[in-house]
Order: sequence, then C-alpha cells, then structure tokens
Amino acid sequence: MLFNELGLPEEILRAVAEIGYEEATEIQAKAIPLLLQGRDVVGRSQTGTGKTAAFGLPAAASIDREMQRSVQVLILCPTRELAMQACEELCKFSAYLPYVKPCAIYGGADIERQITQLKKGANIIVGTPGRVMDHIRRHTLHLDCLRTIILDEADEMLNMGFREDIEEILQYVPEERQTVLFSATMPPQIMAITSEYQRDPVVVGVEQKSRTVESVAQFYYEVPMGRKTDALQMLLLAFEPKLSMVFCNTKHMVDELTEELVAKGFRAAGLHGDMKQQSRTQVLNAFRSGRLNILIATDVAARGIDVDDVDAVFNYDIPQDNEYYIHRIGRTGRAGKTGCAYTIISGRKQAMELKDIARFTKADIIRCDLPTRDDVIAKKTDRVLDKVKTYIGSGKYADGEYQLEKLMSEGFTAEQVAATLLGMRISKETRTVPEFIKPVFRTKDSGGKGKSVKIEISLGRQNRIAPNFILGALVDATGMTGKNFGKIDIYDRFTTVEVPEADKEHILDAMTGTKINGQKIKVKLYEGKGADYSGEKDFRSGGRRRDGGKSGRNGKDGRSNRRKRY
Ligand code: AMP
Repeated sequence: MLFNELGLPEEILRAVAEIGYEEATEIQAKAIPLLLQGRDVVGRSQTGTGKTAAFGLPAAASIDREMQRSVQVLILCPTRELAMQACEELCKFSAYLPYVKPCAIYGGADIERQITQLKKGANIIVGTPGRVMDHIRRHTLHLDCLRTIILDEADEMLNMGFREDIEEILQYVPEERQTVLFSATMPPQIMAITSEYQRDPVVVGVEQKSRTVESVAQFYYEVPMGRKTDALQMLLLAFEPKLSMVFCNTKHMVDELTEELVAKGFRAAGLHGDMKQQSRTQVLNAFRSGRLNILIATDVAARGIDVDDVDAVFNYDIPQDNEYYIHRIGRTGRAGKTGCAYTIISGRKQAMELKDIARFTKADIIRCDLPTRDDVIAKKTDRVLDKVKTYIGSGKYADGEYQLEKLMSEGFTAEQVAATLLGMRISKETRTVPEFIKPVFRTKDSGGKGKSVKIEISLGRQNRIAPNFILGALVDATGMTGKNFGKIDIYDRFTTVEVPEADKEHILDAMTGTKINGQKIKVKLYEGKGADYSGEKDFRSGGRRRDGGKSGRNGKDGRSNRRKRY
C-alpha cells in the first residue's frame, strides 16, 4: 500500500519520500489509519517490520501546534539505543513539521542536558521507563497535556523489570488519552496491561507462517566442547560477512570472546550493559560506519540496534530464551535484504535446546559441517590470486618492476621472486586460520607452566560415553574452559583425562557426585590401571582425539554435507 493512501499529512509524506520508503509495510498499512483516528492499538510485530514508523508517523502527525510547548506524546522503550534510534527516526519523520520536537531521555546520560532539552519545549518524548520516572519525580517532565502514550517492545520492557515504572508512569498520564502498545509476543502479562490500561483496543498483527524472518537462512554447527571460538573464527574466515553480530549470554563471555577475536586480527568490539554510554555509542557508530565489522553483544545490549546491513548473525551461546533467538536472527535479513544466522552448539544439552528453538520458531535450521582449514585456505589463496590478476590489469603496483630488475640482476629469476611473494602473501592471509584436528593442551594454549596429571572417571565405553560428554561435564562442573583439559582416553569401564596438576583438587572436588550423560560418576586421581572399576589391563581405545574425530570434511561452502533439519 502507498503511504498517500493512509491519511498522513502532506509534510509527513514528503519526509517519508525523502527517507526513501516506497510502500508501507504490512504493520504500517494496518496500524497507521487506526492510530490517526485516535484508536487504542495493540500491534503485534517484531523488530524489522517497520513498526517504529507505524507508530512514529502518526505520532508526529498528531502534534497540535497550538500546544507545541507541552509534551503530547510519550514513547517508552526498553533500552537507551532503542530510545535514541526511535527519536532519530521521529526527527526525520517531522523534518517538515518544525514545531514537532522529539527528545530522547534515557539512563546513563547527563540528566541536566536532558532537563535543558525538556525546557526548550520538547513535545514528543522517547525514553526508557526508569529515566522517565526520574524526570517525573523531579518535576522536570510534565505529562498533564499528554494525548498519546506508546509502549514499544512492551514484552521486553516487562522482561527487563519495568512493569512497576510503567504502571506508575501511567498514573501520571491523563485518563483521556490514546494508549498504544507494540510487542513481539503477547504473554498474559501484556494482555493484563492491555485490559487494564487500554480502551477498546484494536489488535493488528503481522501474520507469519514461521515465527522467524523468512529472509534469514538458518544453519547450525556441532563442534567439540571448548572449540566454539575456533569454530566461530573458521566461519568468519570462510563466509567473510561484511557486518556481523555475535551473541553471547553473559557480559564476561562478550569480553573474553572480543579479546580473543581482536587478538586474532578481527575488527571486533563488544557491547554490554556494563559499558559507559559514551563507549557504547562509539562502538555502535564504528559498527554502523563499517570501521568495525563484528559486534559481539549480549541480548539486552543488542536490543533495538538498528543496522540494516548486518548480513550474518552468530549464536555463540544458545539463547536462554526462545524469543531471544527470534530477536537475534531478526538483526539480519532486514529491509528487503537476505541474511544468514549461524548457531554453534556443543554437546547434547545444547543440541536439545536448539531442537526446542526450532520447534518453537517452526524454523528450518539446517545442520552443516564446519568449513575445513583447507577450504578456507583455498578460498583465501584464490582471493590473493584474483587480486594479483586485477592489479596486473590495472598496473597499480607496476613500480615494483624496478625492484624486480634489481633482484634479477643479482641472479634470481622472475618466477622465483613471484612465487616467493605469493607464498608470503598467502601465508600472511592464512596465518590465523584455526587448526581443527590437533587436540588442544593446556600447557601450550594457556601458557601454563604447570605439569599435568591424569584423573580417572568411572565411566567408559561400556557406558556409551563420548569425549565431548566428559569434556562438557568437566567444563560445566569446574567453570574452567575446555582448553584446560588435555588428552581424554576412553577405556572399557573408565576414562582418563589429563588435567593441570595445579587444579587437580578443585577438579576432583567439583566433579565428585556429578552425573555424566545421566549417570552418577566417581572420580579420583589415576594411578595407572583403573583398578576400582574394572581390574582391566591396559586395553586402550587408542587415545581418542578430543574432538572425537568429528572435525569437518565437507563441500566447498561448508554447508553441503550431512544435512539434517530440525
Ligand atoms: P523497525 O521495525 O522499526 O525496526 O524498522 C526496520 C527497518 O525498516 C528500519 O531500518 C526502517 O528504516 C526500515 N523501514 C521502515 N519502514 C519502511 C518502509 N515502508 N519501506 C522500507 N524500509 C522501511
């Protein structure tokens, strides 16, 4: 539907045309006419559907010039970023309505500056509930002339514990008002707010066959415990997304992963709630402009980040909530583009969790093997060769001829020089490609000088145990990373694991009484023959590789083999 069929004023249509929107999205076509009539609306729609314009255009259109110095519209958003972005959009929508003055107020920013802005006559406030409440209490924000209140991402605001603030804010708002609520999901708490605070609301929604965005292709990779960072690196190198977001479940993980990727030469930065507003804004600006191309974030920090060109989303950690999966992958495949979402899982528990997500979202998440080191190296090599061919064609580095002649006068051939230069360049490009075959030992990886000892766990081949179960249990119980553990040998009735000697007490303590694969285990220092469980002689299973021999062998794009769909 065209925007001029929706009843919006001329000035707004001009602004919309200038922004470049051609047709209204489904939620806009449904919600805008109702909002312009002043109806209470419940909009069920996810981020990426154009919902900000769905409520923002009518909000800008509704401002009464006669009362231009009073706050007439209040938009509540769950995060600072979302508030800032919605405010920016409102400024664009009202470019030809000079008396419309949007203003963002959110926590973590200088309150005095916000007070000055409010005094200057802001009439649309976009804010986070906590800070809005703060201004109300300080009497720096007056809502007695308010005509419309909009709750954006209402479900997320409730998840973040803003219910009380929202209810309190609603007490300060005149009864005669328009109440609008947008939410990706409609849990009972949202319905309760609707029935208590809205008047005869019309529900509009965007029908979706599957709950995830159709324009996002979804893949998953099963990797050995402790190898997710290597796997992520491999995927980043193989697919080379221009802009990507990586999701972790904790701030700590965001920091750790950012550090590792930066050390490997990736242009990555982390984003989480503990960061100062100023550094968050810097990171986001760098990401938007492409100076950084990998943003590593927690779910909460990533709320409302509005970047259209993200072409890949990586779930480093499985999201703790099914809805988060939808939000995460909704960061890509926006504004008519396609995107890819890659989930990395380790161990059975995460496989089950992903299955649950697939069931919940009705999405087709395709299992793939990781691209191999050889695939990635071949790709990088091709890239170098293509560049060389292009440069030969353009003559860009032709001034190297002088140096070549110099070397040839010393007796080297042109072939020798060219081959060496190519080799140097290719080795530089492929230096950071991880190796997936070799096991990782603590002594090498963590730089630990300490010796290792073996512990013995009372489960073996007879208990259908696999190395990744053992490693998963060790990581879970001890809080250490997979890299701290060495070789895992599975015997018929027991298993030995190399562990750092310095941590042996902690590991034995932490593992005592735990279960692996549903079976209670006993654990002790290995004394050479595993007598307690078997009396068996040393029938070794051949010193299994840590990764269980599962590393990828696959087709060129890393997505072709062993397709299994959830
Ligand atoms: P939102 O759901 O509000 O987060 O919007 C997602 C993205 O879609 C934003 O970057 C908007 O600029 C863009 N967008 C919103 N409405 C339209 C439209 N009618 N046509 C094209 N892009 C749009």
